[in-house]
Amino acid sequence: MTQSAGDEESCCWVIDHLQEFLHGEMSQDDADAFRRHIAACESCMDEADMEAAVSRALKRCNRTVAAPLQLRSRLIQMHVSYRSQA
Ligand SMILES: [Zn+2]
Repeated sequence: MTQSAGDEESCCWVIDHLQEFLHGEMSQDDADAFRRHIAACESCMDEADMEAAVSRALKRCNRTVAAPLQLRSRLIQMHVSYRSQA
């Protein structure tokens, strides 16, 4: 036992909401909690610094990424319109 982090959940919360935070779509309270967390959590600060790291972090948190789902439905739509043209 190295450290009693017990903070994995808020790390995942921060990673989950990183896009919202970066795009200013977060409520004031949530943004405050977000800033408080990354100020205290080095790994999340690193993640927040690098938007590109989000997907890696999401994998670490075992979360489902929303984007591929959207991409998938778009591809399905494209496929459907392609088929209806043919
Ligand atoms: Zn964290």
